[in-house]
Amino acid sequence: MILRLKRQHVNLLKEEARKVHPIEACAMLFGKLTQKEAVVKRVVVAPNKLQSTVRFEIDPETFVDAFTEADKEGLDFIGLFHSHPAPAKPSLIDHKYMKLWGDIIWLILSSTNGSLAAYQMRNGKVREITIRVE
Ligand SMILES: [Zn+2]
Repeated sequence: MILRLKRQHVNLLKEEARKVHPIEACAMLFGKLTQKEAVVKRVVVAPNKLQSTVRFEIDPETFVDAFTEADKEGLDFIGLFHSHPAPAKPSLIDHKYMKLWGDIIWLILSSTNGSLAAYQMRNGKVREITIRVE
């Protein structure tokens, strides 16, 4: 699986993470999903309802609105973005939620060193996937 993002998406996410650091920033990713790649077409930034440095939650209403909007435009839900004031690796809490969400993509940005990484759970195992910024 390859995750394709536009430079402007990355800039938007980095800006949001910088603004709310050390609180975790979060966003929803929508676009086109195939077996081989996920192409991000829209990034919807949302406030972290928990205002936490170790976990995040998006308000359900915000979720529904974003899904409805994306659906109208024929965009698929690709996955979730959040930042860590730590390395860009899934935490134990993330692992728990990754299991619940199934095979969606998790994009994580370190708000301390700026590194970006994406993960996907496949057959119960979390794997890092390739990111292409174009
Ligand atoms: Zn996390």
